[in-house]
Amino acid sequence: LKFSTLPLASELLDNIDSLGYEKMTPIQAQSLPSILEGKDLIAQAMTGSGKTAAFGLGILAGLDLQKSDVQALILCPTRELADQVSKAIRQLARMMPNIKLLTLCGGALYKPQVKSLSYGAHIVVGTPGRINKHLRKENLDLANLSILVLDEADRMLEMGFQEELDAVFDAAPKSRQTLLFSATYPKRIESISQKIMNDPLMIQL
Ligand code: AMP
Repeated sequence: LKFSTLPLASELLDNIDSLGYEKMTPIQAQSLPSILEGKDLIAQAMTGSGKTAAFGLGILAGLDLQKSDVQALILCPTRELADQVSKAIRQLARMMPNIKLLTLCGGALYKPQVKSLSYGAHIVVGTPGRINKHLRKENLDLANLSILVLDEADRMLEMGFQEELDAVFDAAPKSRQTLLFSATYPKRIESISQKIMNDPLMIQL
């Protein structure tokens, strides 16, 4: 299935071409139509499946660059993964030069992050602990968040981030879209999804 069958702006489609992506991977083909319609999603997907482009394109398609609020938040279990995700999204957004994306992880200096946040950002990628610190200190406002992505949700729970995730769910508007990616689907993920998601599409590859 070709990306050109999707309702994406030509700048995104041209960039997908220039990255050499000829057709959608299975997870992209199954999830992108619903993601672009604004539906919630639970996807059992591994690294290498193309999941980053699936949620990345969903985010980029819905951004309003005229607004400087944080519109998309991606939570990742580790700094390494957050860096990879940020890099992949920047690559997908090459044709959108005015986009502001911040990566906010623990282990990095706090104060420069506060300063960067004060200039505004459209997309934030980060780890749950540091994102929570910015929420508590009111550096980060999620009142206008339209899309929340949980990447490797099972690993975030294994690492003990349940409370931090709950705080993010509380700080984000109920009307947002939520996309959850997980390699496994344990009971705890099922109960989170029942609590925070609205009639999600479930994909198992
Ligand atoms: P991910 O599973 O998101 O870590 O992606 C794995 C790799 O697949 C990344 O290097 C992407 O650049 C690449 N990729 C993602 N989507 C496609 C596609 N539709 N066609 C070819 N490569 C892709």
